[in-house]
Amino acid sequence: MPSKNNSQAGRIPGPIPWVAALLLLSVGLGMFVTWRVPALELHARNWLTRARGPLPVPDDIAIVAIDEASLARFGRYPWRRNLTAQMLDQLAVAHPKAIALDVLFSEATSNVDDSALASAIGKAGNVVAAAQLTRTESGRVVWLRPLSPVEKAAAGVGHVHVSTEADGVAGSFLVRQADDQGQAEWAMALETIRVGAGVNDQAIQELPAAVSIGGRAIPVRSETRTIEIESGRPRSTQRLRASWIPIEYVGPAGSFAPYTFSFGDVLDGKVPSSAFRGKYVIVGATAAALGDRFISPFVHTEGPNGQQYGEFVPGAEILANSLNTLLRGRSYSETPDWLAAACAALVALLTLGGLSISQGKQEILKQVAMVILLGALILGLSYFAFTRWLIFPPIVASSVSFVFAIPLVLLHRSLVASRELDVQIRQMVHAESWLWPSTRETKADPAALIAQLTNASGVAILRHVSAGKYHVAANHGFPLLPSVSKSSGLGIEWPPSPGPVKNGNVSGKADPEMVFLFHERQDIHAQQLTALKCALGDGNPPAGFLIVLYQKDERMPLEMLRVSVELATGFIVTLGNVETANGETGEGSRLASWRLLPRGITWKTRALGTLNQRLLSDSQFVDQSLRSVGDGLLVAGTGGQIIFVNRRATEILGVREHSLLGSSLMGRLGQPEKTIAETLERLMVDRATVERETTFGDSSPKHFILRLSPVCENGEDRGAVVGIVASLSDITKQQELQEMKTEVMSLVTHELRTPLTAIQGMSEVLAQFDVDPDRRREMHVAINEEAKRLARMIDEYLDITRLEAGARPLRKAPLRVQPLVERALLLLDPLASSRGIPITCEFDRNLPVVMADPDLLAQALTNVVANAIKYSPPAGEVRVSVRTDGNDLLIEVADKGYGIAPEHVKGIFEKFYRVPRVENADQPGTGLGLTFVREIMDSHGGYVTVESEVGTGSTFTLRLPVELKDGNNLKKSADD
Ligand code: ADP
Repeated sequence: MPSKNNSQAGRIPGPIPWVAALLLLSVGLGMFVTWRVPALELHARNWLTRARGPLPVPDDIAIVAIDEASLARFGRYPWRRNLTAQMLDQLAVAHPKAIALDVLFSEATSNVDDSALASAIGKAGNVVAAAQLTRTESGRVVWLRPLSPVEKAAAGVGHVHVSTEADGVAGSFLVRQADDQGQAEWAMALETIRVGAGVNDQAIQELPAAVSIGGRAIPVRSETRTIEIESGRPRSTQRLRASWIPIEYVGPAGSFAPYTFSFGDVLDGKVPSSAFRGKYVIVGATAAALGDRFISPFVHTEGPNGQQYGEFVPGAEILANSLNTLLRGRSYSETPDWLAAACAALVALLTLGGLSISQGKQEILKQVAMVILLGALILGLSYFAFTRWLIFPPIVASSVSFVFAIPLVLLHRSLVASRELDVQIRQMVHAESWLWPSTRETKADPAALIAQLTNASGVAILRHVSAGKYHVAANHGFPLLPSVSKSSGLGIEWPPSPGPVKNGNVSGKADPEMVFLFHERQDIHAQQLTALKCALGDGNPPAGFLIVLYQKDERMPLEMLRVSVELATGFIVTLGNVETANGETGEGSRLASWRLLPRGITWKTRALGTLNQRLLSDSQFVDQSLRSVGDGLLVAGTGGQIIFVNRRATEILGVREHSLLGSSLMGRLGQPEKTIAETLERLMVDRATVERETTFGDSSPKHFILRLSPVCENGEDRGAVVGIVASLSDITKQQELQEMKTEVMSLVTHELRTPLTAIQGMSEVLAQFDVDPDRRREMHVAINEEAKRLARMIDEYLDITRLEAGARPLRKAPLRVQPLVERALLLLDPLASSRGIPITCEFDRNLPVVMADPDLLAQALTNVVANAIKYSPPAGEVRVSVRTDGNDLLIEVADKGYGIAPEHVKGIFEKFYRVPRVENADQPGTGLGLTFVREIMDSHGGYVTVESEVGTGSTFTLRLPVELKDGNNLKKSADD
């Protein structure tokens, strides 16, 4: 029964604060890691790019490569600029869309060469020249621009910077870059597209999150911070937003190889003009010797045929990739931080939900599977978002949130379990305090009692612990040897001698080994002592031994020894139960201090198990005690249904336990409908005990006191009623005693008093007055008659009582009825003839032999025949007939006397009952004769009946069962 206090003490906070804390921690950590360790995010992106693999190579971009072959042919770079001019002339013939010159022409060389290049650029008309920022020695950042004739001839100028991320990968390019004068240039890729589209340089515009070229908008990644550029000229102050465009790499270095042509080949006109027509052409260095190389996400990757890519990407290819990104509009968008946080929160929630539903059977397997499933889901969705929707997924935030949510959920779960265990342990410790303190608490051992009972000098109780080993469980009297009491187990032989108690041989023989458990070998007392060893329990080897040490000359009382063996056995059994309950580690004893020390969940679970065991054994003890109660005990729950019955109750009610359980208590106790409401009111409202007498059993009804009491919560009178307990105490014996007392009282007050008064009166008259001799004699006779009647009444009453109480045992013997009847009638002859009543006799032939007490049967018959004579008018007639009826022998006594009125027939067999009528006045009587007859017939298993009519006569029938089984043998033996 959990008490209110406990349920309150163990309240666990609701799930909402906990979920909020989980979200906050997981999301916070996810975002923290994303911000503080950006390399992780970059690494994830590179991984996603590699996982996606190469894209189809675009055919609208061609590269004119300053490659190793060209270097071999034209010598060390830089070459003379007229070479480039010639190459441009060749290109221009093919009418490309735009030509991006990814080569810096910022320093002047020979005039001829420089002007040749400028005129070639001018002729081509769609050339974009490269510019680059550089830091001067004074620390200023300035543009390294193309030579002014070249810049003038070019259709546009673009910067060729790429931004490398923290991991060194050239991941994006700045939309615009400016020197510290505020001179800004668009990226070369943007300029190339603008030139290709044939629009002027005003056509490029920066929008909030995009850049537009002639109506085409390209999303950009911007920083919210803007840089204010002071150009020295007040009116030209402008804000420059730092915006990047992420580069989508088509593949590893060399992906553009199909559309890459050697500078020398182009110069020689070896490349067909179709290779460049209408295309964007990039002129740039690919030779490793020229530097200008960058790391791409594909820097470490494996090709479809297993080849390893470890190459850096040349600047020309970076430009080609950038151009392709812009042309295809494949610009990746970043997830904003709030969305990343939302994703992390969702992941944490999913983890919580997933781990919560994957509990129950095979939990470890389910949990691992759920973790794998969730991990796969995060990676899968990230991949999908990256490849399909061109989104950089918040993979780090989500993963970190996931990784932290798992232990948090598990930690919370274990904390909740631990809390729950605390509550349960507290409840159980509390329950233990109100449940019966079993032997564990009382620590009583029966050794002292045994010593007292058996008058022994020393007692030891040994308990079996392991094969052949016994421990001292209790001892009293002579101290044990230190080696014995401290030993880890004594070897006791079995079976050394037959159990003395079982054989009834108490003397026992001196067993020196046993004596030396107690005494030193040299001790002189040891010589006068004898030890008895009794095995405990029926097992083999026995559960223990009782060793009793006593003086040689003393006799051990056998009964007391039996009692002692039972005591010791019970002790050993409870000891065993308690130890199992305390657990093998003996933690039970330490449970009291469980609150003081920090204990883990494992310890708590074990402690709970121990407590549980102990409570179980305690409640088992209580249950066994209740079952063993000598009174009938029934307990009903709040619904009035029986929930417990003990053995005695089933015997009283004559119903099996399983039929009683669940049935209505009031119904089973046979409570009259009318009284139920009143009884319930007394029980439930007044909390009072209801007591009444009741009778059970049809054939031989027994009397009981039925006590109904409410079972109140916490055992308090005012507590809620949680059940009803009914006890049935057998009072049949007391009832009989009470009846007897009443009878004796009535015997003394009425029956004995009347004759005594008469005797007293007459004797007083005789003593005080002179009475004439005739009268005197008459009075003497009357006194004598009354005294005899008194004596007879007392005798008869004692006879009946003895028979009822079983004090007069039946002396049954095989018996022929005819001689018995004849003898009885002979003795009644004087009485019959005094009234002139003839008695006729009639016997069936072949009457069986019966088993009966001859004296009692004769007395019964005499009483009935004497009544027939007494209660007939003179010269009436009495007829006695003996016959068999089925298995019974009938003795019928019929008279033609006064008869008995129907209303009196029932009473005549009761004690002291006499039919009140005039004719009786003449007849001395006690009213006990027929009661005696009834008792005699009862004790023989038969009965007496009467049929009577007033004025006609009565017939009394004595019916006696013939014991058929041995009938033949009896007959023979009676004949002999
Ligand atoms: P007692 O004969 O001593 O009065 P009994 O127990 O023998 O007591 O009989 C009880 C009563 O039954 C008698 O008082 C008598 O009135 C009535 N009774 C018994 N036997 C007969 C009978 N054969 N005919 C009429 N009445 C009888």
